[in-house]
Amino acid sequence: MFDAIVVGAGFAGSVLAERLAAQDGMRVLVVERRSHIGGNAFDHYDDAGILVHRYGPHIFHCNSPEIVAYLSRFTAWRPYQHRVRAMVDGQALPIPINLDTVNRLYGTAFTSFDLADWFASVAEPRERILTSEDAVVSKVGRDLYEKFFRGYTRKQWGLDPSELDAQVTARIPTRTNRDDRYFTDRFQAMPLHGYTRMFERMLDHPRISVMLNTDWREVAPLFGETPPLLVWTGPIDAWFGYRFGPLPYRSLEFRFETRDVEWAQEVGTINYPNEEEFTRVTEFKHLTGQTHAKTTVVYEYPRAEGDPYYPIPRPENNALYKRYAGLGEQLAGVVFVGRLATYKYYNMDQVVAQALAAHQRLASARRLVVG
Ligand code: FAD
Ligand code: UDP
Repeated sequence: MFDAIVVGAGFAGSVLAERLAAQDGMRVLVVERRSHIGGNAFDHYDDAGILVHRYGPHIFHCNSPEIVAYLSRFTAWRPYQHRVRAMVDGQALPIPINLDTVNRLYGTAFTSFDLADWFASVAEPRERILTSEDAVVSKVGRDLYEKFFRGYTRKQWGLDPSELDAQVTARIPTRTNRDDRYFTDRFQAMPLHGYTRMFERMLDHPRISVMLNTDWREVAPLFGETPPLLVWTGPIDAWFGYRFGPLPYRSLEFRFETRDVEWAQEVGTINYPNEEEFTRVTEFKHLTGQTHAKTTVVYEYPRAEGDPYYPIPRPENNALYKRYAGLGEQLAGVVFVGRLATYKYYNMDQVVAQALAAHQRLASARRLVVG
């Protein structure tokens, strides 16, 4: 009945399903164990009527015109530049660290030129940037590292930055100017009617069927020994029955709070790098542009147990992932795509790019067979 089965209706699964159905004419079944599409980007209106992201704040930013053009088939956009403050020494200071962060923290009056020299004077030289500690202290020195990064990272990952790959904290740049935007990508915007509406339009195709509330394991036996093409976007270790042991993923607990005031905080997100149990608080109306007399915020509490949200980039985990990936390469007819299936700390745009590339590879392989 189906030419392809896609497990997971997040970005990875929805892009593949859409391409296989719309471009290749396949009949596609999408199997999703949650009660909704959209994966971790799912959004919905809460009891107060405020649009919220159930799995934490999602801000779309991207440098690739091709990815933007592809997603723009399914949504219009609302331009939005995300701003974040970090609560340090009783002040809400810009993060990424910039000229104002340093001047307000230390009471200095540096110019951008002074600041570049000052960073050079406090930075700890490192021959090789291997860990998340190296990535920060080699740029801004120990004091700013301890105030803005060490506590946040220990909370978020349950590990010291010295135990995590450099790429984790290297996501956050350092600036000598006054730019206080979190991202500098050429395209920064939110889907005008939300992510879920965008996913609905991606999956709204006569050759796509979606089964919600269904774990793949429940329906796999129906497809027998020779299933059609299978796209797996769940955790890769789960596919292989954890045979080499579980891959570590970091989880979060989200606590939503609706307040009877129009605005709760001055910017979209406030980070709490120090004593609080939560890492950050996000107020959705900044992101969505919604007008409402009340407001909803979400607190993020890092957890070791729970839904897998983040792969944990460090050498031993990457080595374990490679063993699973090696098994995956030997499997004809199964394609692993997405943040959990390829164990990569990818943003949404990167997952879309990965899914479109996987679709291209499948199409070329088919052309070889047919040709
Ligand atoms: P997912 O969205 O996880 O989708 C996988 C789907 O597979 C899930 O719906 C799951 O239920 C389903 N599934 C798994 N196993 C099975 C099974 N056995 N049977 C059936 N279904 C199954 N990115 C950004 O670009 N900007 C941001 O601001 C941003 N913020 C984030 C904030 C948080 C708190 C988190 C956790 C992530 C954030 N991301 C952000 C990253 C973004 O969420 C991911 O890049 C993207 O959602 C990954 O899509 P995916 O399809 O790979 O995975
Ligand atoms: N980080 C930090 N302090 C901050 C912001 C980020 O230490 O104020 C570190 C932390 O390790 C975090 C990583 O940088 O996990 C990446 O931050 P980002 O905001 O990109 O995390 P995400 O949105 O993916 O959770």
